[in-house]
Amino acid sequence: MGLSLKKNDTVFVISGDEKGKKGRVLAVYPKKEALIVERLNMIKRHMKPSKKYSQGGIIEKEAPLRISNVMLVCTKCDKPTRIGQKILESGLKVRVCRKCEEVID
Ligand SMILES: [Zn+2]
Repeated sequence: MGLSLKKNDTVFVISGDEKGKKGRVLAVYPKKEALIVERLNMIKRHMKPSKKYSQGGIIEKEAPLRISNVMLVCTKCDKPTRIGQKILESGLKVRVCRKCEEVID
């Protein structure tokens, strides 16, 4: 495995209930191999009244997806791709698209 997904990446779901959908990454949990994608895998949760939800009640919230179920959408060629890795002359590791070979970062 090369470099991982990051917050604000766009991902394409390749398996599971949300297969075929795209969304923006809101959070990545590498140790759990999970990530949260905006408006995907929504679940309903019962909330007690609080500062944020003064009424309480049912809210919809994103549930984690497995990282293995998504692919990064390349910002250059707009295709779902595996993440490659390249080391620049400066020593910096960057992510590259395996489809178009462009640097993604
Ligand atoms: Zn690409």
